[in-house]
Amino acid sequence: MNNKILQDLNYGVYVVSSKDETKNVGCIANSVMQITSSPATIAISINHENYTNECIKKYNKFSVSVLNEETNPEIVGTFGFKSSRDIDKFEKFEYYEIDELPVLEDSNGYITCEVIGTLETDTHTIFLGKMISCDKKMEKEPMSYKFYHKVLKGKSPEKAPTYTPDIEEEIKGNRWKCTICGYIYEGEELPLDYICPLCGAPREVFVKVD
Ligand code: FE
Repeated sequence: MNNKILQDLNYGVYVVSSKDETKNVGCIANSVMQITSSPATIAISINHENYTNECIKKYNKFSVSVLNEETNPEIVGTFGFKSSRDIDKFEKFEYYEIDELPVLEDSNGYITCEVIGTLETDTHTIFLGKMISCDKKMEKEPMSYKFYHKVLKGKSPEKAPTYTPDIEEEIKGNRWKCTICGYIYEGEELPLDYICPLCGAPREVFVKVD
């Protein structure tokens, strides 16, 4: 089997958000798609281990912030590689609330949904959401998963539906890898004050890839 073909499927980069009793929660999702047009329904895939998964199940609503190519990469680092169990991911970023759901300012716009069905796989829950409302606020190029990989040099976390271990481990050469988020720095030496542009981790967590 040549599972590289899976990388020819297209994905975006989104922040899927919901709430727990005390705060807003959210995580990065790349599998978000419109399933029907009228009424509009949206399907998303969220790992069982993601805190956002259990919050959506309790709150029964979620929002999707559609990131663009100029979105601060720290948003991807924070929402993709940290857990809302431990921190309030929204604390560092501007956001507004629509239908009692958080939406990131630094995105093209949003879709809010009420959950109308779920399907469990071994690792992920597929949530089917009926759209409550949506808006487009910016005309910037939406961030594709390809852009995330090629330009931001981001990696798939293990909990991503599209994680493929053998492809993720292919990177070799004169490079340093962030052990928190997988970001790759290319060069002989890391600058002394280097901070991971994706997740904000310090230089010390980088390891040489050889
Ligand atoms: Fe990092």
